[in-house]
Amino acid sequence: MSEEFYDLVEDAQTEDVIEDESMTQTETQSQTQPSSHKDEAKPLLDEVTFVGSGNSKNPGGAKVWMCIYCNIQYTSSYSRIHMHFFGVTWGKKAEIRRCPAILADREKYIKLLKKMVSAISKAPPSYKAPSSEKARTVLLYECARDVEKDSSSIQDTWFTQGVSIVSDGWSNVKHEPLINVLVVNSRGVTFMYAKDFSGVEKIGQAISNYLLGAIEKIGPSHVLQVVTDNAANCKAAGKDIEKVYKHIFWSPCCVHTLNLIFKDFAEQFNWLENVYNRGKMVVKYFLNHSQALAIFRDNSNLEILKLASTRFASHYILLKRLKDCREALATTVVLNSWREWAKQGDENTKKWRTCCSNYTK
Ligand SMILES: [Zn+2]
Repeated sequence: MSEEFYDLVEDAQTEDVIEDESMTQTETQSQTQPSSHKDEAKPLLDEVTFVGSGNSKNPGGAKVWMCIYCNIQYTSSYSRIHMHFFGVTWGKKAEIRRCPAILADREKYIKLLKKMVSAISKAPPSYKAPSSEKARTVLLYECARDVEKDSSSIQDTWFTQGVSIVSDGWSNVKHEPLINVLVVNSRGVTFMYAKDFSGVEKIGQAISNYLLGAIEKIGPSHVLQVVTDNAANCKAAGKDIEKVYKHIFWSPCCVHTLNLIFKDFAEQFNWLENVYNRGKMVVKYFLNHSQALAIFRDNSNLEILKLASTRFASHYILLKRLKDCREALATTVVLNSWREWAKQGDENTKKWRTCCSNYTK
């Protein structure tokens, strides 16, 4: 969260004192919630139960509250309730313990985070959002440091458990060819970095040099294997790495291998290609004709899926979704609204439409 956001929610002139964490699970349910709970700029008030008003004479000052997740009681102002759930801004002192219940439950954490984001949209007009300059410098670095801090406990296990390096190439929205490096062990996957390979031919040697760099960075003795897809250049890179480090072995990506097997299957059966081509035609037709799509959408809860050939199993996904939508598609092409619309257009359009209608029946 930005400092501005802290300023927004901070109770002014509150020099509150955090009491020792009294682990008392006091019964507080009989206490009624103060009216300030409706305050949309302070959404976290719903996540705590107020036990008392504390020592502060200031109405906005420190209050005794209990977290509804961990049931631990504290005395503080609102800003520290925030710190309890989300931690402190970088460079500030942690004056309250992070909520152990929220730290242990990612789903609850994300739910709280979404609540905070929607609170920003309801913020009073006086709330000043961070400038783009600040967002891409100070705040971004702050986030990066937070991520580093959070992932350090996983990184510590790299050196005790060992890791696999997983690498894959993809293009970003600017069509820059990137190759990423992920580090995987039983504790989870960590993104290490990605490099832009624009203007560099992705031959085996270029890839192996890149991956050898990653191995050096982690420490060769902690790396057990390197996983890439099954393309010839990656295979060659894997062999190069195995030559340099005898204890590291290369494994082809299992999903990519399965995808290739299915591709081989498909090439063996002509009818399969035929079915796919017809399915693709139906999908393209609907997606290119907004009127047809509108009639279909009135009859279906599911959307027709767009083709994304770069995804694994895209052929299967396309056909599976068509099968799931079959009833809705069959209903669409016998509706009066469809027939009325089908009368319009030139001969070519009509021909395609009839073809499409026949396939969907
Ligand atoms: Zn808590």
